[in-house]
Amino acid sequence: MKFGTFSPDSAAGPRLGLVRGDRIVDVQAALGRTWADAPSTLLGLIQAGPDAQRRVAALENAADGSHSYPLSGIRWHAPIPRPAKNVFCLGQNYLAHARESAQARGREMRVPTVPVIFTKASTTVSGPFDDIAVDRDATQQVDWEVELGVVIGTSGRNIAKGDALRHVFGYTVINDLSARDLQQQHLQWFKGKSLDGFCPMGPVIVTADEFGDPQTKRLQLRVNGVTKQDSTTANMIFPLDVIIEWLSKGLTLEPGDVIATGTPEGVGMGRTPQEFLANGDVIETEVEGIGTMRNRIIDR
Ligand code: ZN
Repeated sequence: MKFGTFSPDSAAGPRLGLVRGDRIVDVQAALGRTWADAPSTLLGLIQAGPDAQRRVAALENAADGSHSYPLSGIRWHAPIPRPAKNVFCLGQNYLAHARESAQARGREMRVPTVPVIFTKASTTVSGPFDDIAVDRDATQQVDWEVELGVVIGTSGRNIAKGDALRHVFGYTVINDLSARDLQQQHLQWFKGKSLDGFCPMGPVIVTADEFGDPQTKRLQLRVNGVTKQDSTTANMIFPLDVIIEWLSKGLTLEPGDVIATGTPEGVGMGRTPQEFLANGDVIETEVEGIGTMRNRIIDR
């Protein structure tokens, strides 16, 4: 299944949607008459658990076209517009990206021996087709990072590698936008990764059963139509089951938690000369099996 958060028109608020062909079903409107507390948000559906998800899944094959809208006419929001906690992120999880980052900073590359984790503030999340308003008082070096996003479905602590993927609800696309000058000045990643709007997410969450093996998916990113990143999740240093095992050691992962699994090579910082995003640039961020986001940079 593919779930999204959408508004039927510009006047309407965000709601939970299930994609059915070229339409999206307003889940609460479709089920509300027979199910008083049907979830109204995607986070609510994830937290409600497998029984609720099975009830919603029945809509996938319903012939009834009411309470649905053509995908071409809706406004998309991030699937989880405000996660309950910061977005967990993997740093240097692709060898060629670790190499380009070290070279750009004039350091020797050290291949991580355990997953490198940082976070982005939950207020960074923006929609898959939103403009990204960049505050130029804060940064002149905005960079791109296509990543496979993972959404946790069932709670767990000290999750064993062999059980890890059973804790995943689904997958989405993330662009881990990064202010390189702030990262450099601040000596930590948090601030440069946490400017408003710096985590476009979407367009949908594809459920784990439909997505299949998360380590075989192509990742691509284009700026103004020019390919900058083109790799595969097969190149992760730490695959997702290891990430979840390591991250959940003594730390409870909860339904709706989001993990960005790291970016492959081809970021702007690693290029010669370096490239950063400018006013009007359009970024397309794509993961095989999920979809493509399109975000425009707007200076403010
Ligand atoms: Zn990243």
